[in-house]
Amino acid sequence: MHNLQRSVHHRNATNKSLTEALAECRHQNLLSEAAEQSLLDGFGPVAKEILLNEIKNVGKNKHGHRFSDNIRAFALTVFYYSPRAYNFLRTVFCLPSVSSLRDYNSSVDSSPGFSIPVLSYLQRTVGAKPCENECCLVIDAMNIRKDSSWDKNSGKFVGHVDYGGLMEESDRIATEALVFMAVGLSGRWKMPVAYFFTDHASADIQTNLVVDCIKRLHDYGITVRAVTCDGTEVNLSMFRRLGMEMDEPYFSHPCNSNIKVFGICDVCHMLKLVRNTLGDLRIIYDNKNKPIRWAHITALLDVQELAGFRAANKLSAKHVMYRKHIMKVKLAAQVLSSSVADALEFLRVDCHNFQQLDNEATVTFIRNIDHLFDLLNSHSPFARGFKAALRCENMRYWTECLSNLRDYISSLKTADGTLLLSHRRKTAFTGFIISINSVIGLATELLTREVNPFKYILTYKLSQDHLELFFSKIRSRGGFNNNPSVIQFRAAYRSLILKNCVSPSLNANCLQLENDDEYISIHRKSRTVSETPEPSDISVLIETCVESLAKNQFVENCLYYIAGFIVRSLSSVVSCDDCILAMHEKILDTPDPSVSKLSSRKDRGGLIFPSGSVYKIISTTETVISREVVHSSKLPNTSNLALQIQCQVLDRLSSYSLFPLFDSHFHDSIFLSGESHYLQLIRLIIRKFVNIRLKDYGKKFLQKTQFKGQQSSRMYFNKMVLFQGW
Ligand SMILES: [Zn+2]
Repeated sequence: MHNLQRSVHHRNATNKSLTEALAECRHQNLLSEAAEQSLLDGFGPVAKEILLNEIKNVGKNKHGHRFSDNIRAFALTVFYYSPRAYNFLRTVFCLPSVSSLRDYNSSVDSSPGFSIPVLSYLQRTVGAKPCENECCLVIDAMNIRKDSSWDKNSGKFVGHVDYGGLMEESDRIATEALVFMAVGLSGRWKMPVAYFFTDHASADIQTNLVVDCIKRLHDYGITVRAVTCDGTEVNLSMFRRLGMEMDEPYFSHPCNSNIKVFGICDVCHMLKLVRNTLGDLRIIYDNKNKPIRWAHITALLDVQELAGFRAANKLSAKHVMYRKHIMKVKLAAQVLSSSVADALEFLRVDCHNFQQLDNEATVTFIRNIDHLFDLLNSHSPFARGFKAALRCENMRYWTECLSNLRDYISSLKTADGTLLLSHRRKTAFTGFIISINSVIGLATELLTREVNPFKYILTYKLSQDHLELFFSKIRSRGGFNNNPSVIQFRAAYRSLILKNCVSPSLNANCLQLENDDEYISIHRKSRTVSETPEPSDISVLIETCVESLAKNQFVENCLYYIAGFIVRSLSSVVSCDDCILAMHEKILDTPDPSVSKLSSRKDRGGLIFPSGSVYKIISTTETVISREVVHSSKLPNTSNLALQIQCQVLDRLSSYSLFPLFDSHFHDSIFLSGESHYLQLIRLIIRKFVNIRLKDYGKKFLQKTQFKGQQSSRMYFNKMVLFQGW
């Protein structure tokens, strides 16, 4: 924000002085009108507008100021982004006062119901463009605070259920705002087209509203191709009323019976529900009658906590005790992620003490859900693998993947043999199947039709995220404290529409201002560990436990994996090519194959496998750290701790000859400072590891000591579950 302010300031300062110069020139008749015009043409539309505005208003008193529509739009936009930045701009420029901005604002109709300004804006911008005028209609409700205040402007009480005149007035108090948002399937637009204050609208009412909305959008040139909502009972029964079946999840467009409108259950909600179902039922069975156990996941957490290291995944107590964070999609996505599956597989296959863990089915389950989530949530046309956009060229691939996953999900059973699809916890699974069927149907049609086929389809466009972000935007305007009241919601909704300069009085070209800018530009962070690991992933790896175990195979594998990160980051720092090669050389300097199993398991082509010497240095450092730091129950307050550790490590390593192939290089090469490359390289590796390790240890130290009691009772319980086969 600060940078933005600065750059705006900078540009404006330039404009200002130019303007003054220009006005001065005109004043003294030094400049012909034609010359002025040609000067003005050199500016972009916004800068030109600002310039003209300055020329027009300079020297007039403040009641004489007149502003064009474009300037108003510009002012509203800046004010929307930051009122403080706007106030600052006003000290430089001649711009409308804040109270006049409020007046412009309130001239826009933002009462409940269908928003005509938004609809006509859509008609102007995308209504006539093929492909771009096709959209997904996303529906969700947001809780609002019950309200019953007197509105002196309208002369009535507000806070009632309000369908914008579409239905009879009611004297019930509203508890939620039901919002309809249209999201372009191609092209980068999304707009809230309608909202209603309801108290949990019945499926009947909601169905009517959806049909009405589809018709109105059609009148304004927008074709709805899919309807997305979460899997609540009301929504599912709305789907049924619209005529959708699980196997044929579509209905005909009310204005054109040749068009199919598909139903989608939001995959983020489904993912959370799948996690909850597994967590609550504790065990489910797959198509081969193999058990999928929640306990396998908690066991992984326990192993990691005891060992003090994480096997390259993000699992933490928060993920396992998910009840407290039940709304967070990210946690569910991290539990049901390929890195957790990799770690579980590593435990079963590569670690001797855990081979009795029969977690194969759990691993398959997690991988399948992870793939499904990626397929149904593709963000980028450039991604590959499961995250790739759906295209004609890879159609066989994704239809096969999706139908296999559909078969897998349909075969899942509970302990007593009931299919999950007919169980009371079926929502997540039916929801996924509806979405799979819809995505296959919709994508096939859009990609293969003869007229204006799509080049690719991003399944993310079908998600509810867009609306969730809109809600969080509305909440943040209330200071994140509370759900907004009816009045606050209206005001926030209005300024959010206005941010896109949608106002009947403003002409269309002011939209140039941020035509390209999406409604809300926050993107959800990428959810899984990326395939070529980045340095930030390193924090994932380490967790310290006071009762640290003796180093076993598990820890050794984690250390080797970390060694790979360290080599990667040092390779960009070290200036000597031979030293870099030495860290990678594995012919004479082969690491023990038993330590690289986790890395091999996680490798998808991008991981670094460091030499045995690098591993030796790091494991020696870890020995010293665990003796000096981890085993003492206090956080040491030694001033030169890092140096002490380094000296001890060097001492222990003095009898080894590391990097055997590079003896001659190390013999010859000495830095100007007199230090040898050999010592320098070892020090760098030690220092890097100490920093990573102790940073993480410090972060976890308090947390660990504070929650120790709770943790161990849960672990005790879990061990019972694990070993008594409950
Ligand atoms: Zn060197």
